[in-house]
Amino acid sequence: MSAAFLEVEGLVRWFDGVRAVNGVSFEIPAGAVVGLIGANGAGKTTTMRLLATLDLPDRGVIRLGGVDVVERPNEVRRRIGWMPDYFPAYKDTTVGDYIDFFGRANGLHGAELLRRVMEVTEFTDLVPLAQRPMDRLSKGQTQRLCLARTLLNDPDFLILDEPAAGLDPKARLEFKNLVRVLRERGKTILISSHILSELGEMCDTLIFMDRGAVMHHGDTGTLRRGGATTGACVVDIVIDGAVVPLLEWLAVRPGWKLLNERRDGARAEFANVEAAALAAELRRLVTDGVAVTDFHREERRLEEAFVEMLREPPLLKKTPPAEGKTP
Ligand code: ATP
Repeated sequence: MSAAFLEVEGLVRWFDGVRAVNGVSFEIPAGAVVGLIGANGAGKTTTMRLLATLDLPDRGVIRLGGVDVVERPNEVRRRIGWMPDYFPAYKDTTVGDYIDFFGRANGLHGAELLRRVMEVTEFTDLVPLAQRPMDRLSKGQTQRLCLARTLLNDPDFLILDEPAAGLDPKARLEFKNLVRVLRERGKTILISSHILSELGEMCDTLIFMDRGAVMHHGDTGTLRRGGATTGACVVDIVIDGAVVPLLEWLAVRPGWKLLNERRDGARAEFANVEAAALAAELRRLVTDGVAVTDFHREERRLEEAFVEMLREPPLLKKTPPAEGKTP
């Protein structure tokens, strides 16, 4: 049996000749927080809706905890919490009534209903707002209400579509903290967003989508370092005192090339990207008597990694619906 909690293989979904999702495959281990990034129309929402059993793929397999989501949707629905990017407010409905209504709609009743409603209301910090009509909430409070609804059935897999869109910095931070606590509680979470830096902080791995295809799936550290496992890397070295000993060391030490001399150190290229090789060089630099106070590999911003990926040749060719389309 696979160790992956969520397995997605060769997912295809087209609308009127447009392949919104074009052969998407990825795996998510249990307890991971994964970001789904892509420009408008990249296929994020379509992918998420397929995972949430709200739509059927034209091709491909989705397994959650080993259960085929397409063949046995009822078995997995209770384990999935879906938070859509659009959340309509009902008029004349209080926050408390709304959560209670969706608790009942989820099949909860009696003491269990009261317990879950209280738990999610407290978790999302909505207790003081329980009597407020939901169409008078701020955007951040509305997002918290939507999360409360999503958590009512205590799902172990959360699919959050653009949860931070339109939130001010304070509300975004509050939302990020809620995601952190949910991760600590062992939830597996897939979040889509355009705010790359924010996803980078929250997520274990990031999936980049473009025109319906996955361009890259990797951890944020690897993305920032450019994903390379061979070749050279750029290192910034900061020292205490005169830079001459550092410059002399770089001139004679094999594998190093000085790029820029600085007032308090240097930027240099090293001909090996492996962490162990860099660690050995740092040890050598220190034992050779250079007063190093900071030594770090240059990292790209996630935005740069994303833009670079989009420059790669497109994987998607628009093809009309053809053979293999399931009715
Ligand atoms: P955004 O960030 O703007 O929400 P997205 O990455 O979530 O974009 P999707 O909403 O999945 O992208 O859309 C992917 C493509 O599929 C787009 O070209 C969109 O117009 C198209 N599409 C999505 N749903 C439908 C539909 N129900 N009917 C027709 N086309 C659709």
